[in-house]
Amino acid sequence: MKSYRKELWFETHQRRQLINITPEVELCLSESGIQEGMVLVNAMHITASVFINDDESGLHQDYENWLEKLAPEKPHSQYNHNTYEDNGDAHLKRTIMGREVVVAITKGRLDFGPWEQIFYGEFDGKRRKRVLVKIIGE
Ligand code: ZN
Repeated sequence: MKSYRKELWFETHQRRQLINITPEVELCLSESGIQEGMVLVNAMHITASVFINDDESGLHQDYENWLEKLAPEKPHSQYNHNTYEDNGDAHLKRTIMGREVVVAITKGRLDFGPWEQIFYGEFDGKRRKRVLVKIIGE
């Protein structure tokens, strides 16, 4: 069995941003040389997510609106967590959007369903943060 590990770094300009990281994951898969196996992609921070969905701008705005209804950023004082920080909302957004995805690898390709793309969801950005890509197989 082969294994491959890489960290992808991101620094968003906005506090919240969704980034399609499918091309980066495909590059990792190509570097790994693995033809059959699994890839795990996870956010290494507890205020960011990795999830799979459609790369469609209306949907991305819907996520923003929905998450702001569930866990509004402001006022910061509404969160018990925000004593030394202001990112209580980002922890909650991360929880609902998830930590990681696992995708099957078949014949050297990500074995997606229709329209599936991998996203990094940043909820407390403007600083350097990481995503782990771990691939196992042969
Ligand atoms: Zn925090």
